[in-house]
Amino acid sequence: MKILVLNCGSSSVKFQLIETSLELIEQRADRLIAKGSVEKIGSSHAIVTFDVPGRERHRETPEILEHRVAIERVARLLCDPEHGVIGDPKEIDGVGHRVVHGGEKFANSTLINDRVLHEMKECIELAPLHNPANIRGYTVARQIFPDIPHVAVFDTAFHQTMPPHSYLYALPRVIHRRHGVRRYGFHGTSHRYCAYRIEKITGVDREELRIITAHLGNGCSACAIDHGKSLDTTMGFTPLEGLIMGTRSGDIDPAAVLHVIAKEELRLSEANTLLNKHSGLLGISGISNDMRELQTAAAKGNEDAQLAIDMFCYRLKKYIGAYAAAMGGVDHLVFTGGIGENSALIRERSVDGLAFMGLEIDPARNADPEARGERQISTATSRAKIWVIPTDEELVIARDTVRCIVGVIPPPPA
Ligand code: ADP
Repeated sequence: MKILVLNCGSSSVKFQLIETSLELIEQRADRLIAKGSVEKIGSSHAIVTFDVPGRERHRETPEILEHRVAIERVARLLCDPEHGVIGDPKEIDGVGHRVVHGGEKFANSTLINDRVLHEMKECIELAPLHNPANIRGYTVARQIFPDIPHVAVFDTAFHQTMPPHSYLYALPRVIHRRHGVRRYGFHGTSHRYCAYRIEKITGVDREELRIITAHLGNGCSACAIDHGKSLDTTMGFTPLEGLIMGTRSGDIDPAAVLHVIAKEELRLSEANTLLNKHSGLLGISGISNDMRELQTAAAKGNEDAQLAIDMFCYRLKKYIGAYAAAMGGVDHLVFTGGIGENSALIRERSVDGLAFMGLEIDPARNADPEARGERQISTATSRAKIWVIPTDEELVIARDTVRCIVGVIPPPPA
């Protein structure tokens, strides 16, 4: 089947066309046909990129004022006689949509019907910055591709297995009941993919494994995957909690936030911006939210960049320890995301000193400049194995779309 994967943000649409089916999933022979993005939607010079493996990148800068035009453009590009990869939109068998928040309603991916759409809309108040664009993307795509199934794949769904003692905050219970305030966790498709790959690579059933996954990109989160299920994860009610990120603070004493709001006379929106956009690696270093730039600056002796790196690794190390404790040990630790896949320094620093709990990184394997793709970076004697696994959230979305279409994931109630 040819599945179009759509990831719609407030001013962007990212897409991939993927050939997959149950048989191809089994053989791991599913493949990317084309991918691209439309950025700066709403401007007279949107940026459209279109990549087909083995071909040169195609680029356009048309005026695109809204998502409908962006997705129509994607459909046209896919079928374009010169640049395209299919002859007719009817060759597409299904559309998989990334949806950030599924609240407590969605513990799995699902075909979208009117009822599901209604429930997705009810989750908007939990993710006011993300879900509206995801839903807009769906509504428009449904009009452009009316006769094929559309599937929603939620960032939060994988974490719905967390037990109350890990997902509840120690607030009066009424706050959860009334406002849905609890840990939801995000990056679920990525954590799930990494655990699935460990199961496939090792040939050991997930029921037997205790895995810690660290997704380190612009947003960062770790997850304790106990016997195949998310037991705990660092992001919380929103993606702000937990690890230090590019521009997000991660964990902080809530009373410190109240204090700063009072002292600086901040409005709530300003406090939100402070914590989400001006903090994290950027806030500490005062230089950049980009780990590459910080590593370069630190290597030249910049102490603020070095401090940001130290804090980033220390926070992650604390969570690795915490999650090993939560699971009674750890068998595999996985690094993924732009930083996790590419930064030998961050990987090394984050597990430095953890040999006592069975995690020993092999410095040569870890820093091998030729190494690409999935690889083990622990020593031969390390009791727990350490891995780099390039994540592939779009592949997970395409595969879940197929599973929903063929009924392996049961359809939602009408
Ligand atoms: P997103 O979360 O937006 O998908 P990515 O997963 O691409 O982001 O991660 C972006 C982060 O990865 C940036 O901080 C970037 O500096 C970092 N990164 C990418 N390559 C390297 C590298 N070679 N060394 C260190 N950090 C890297």
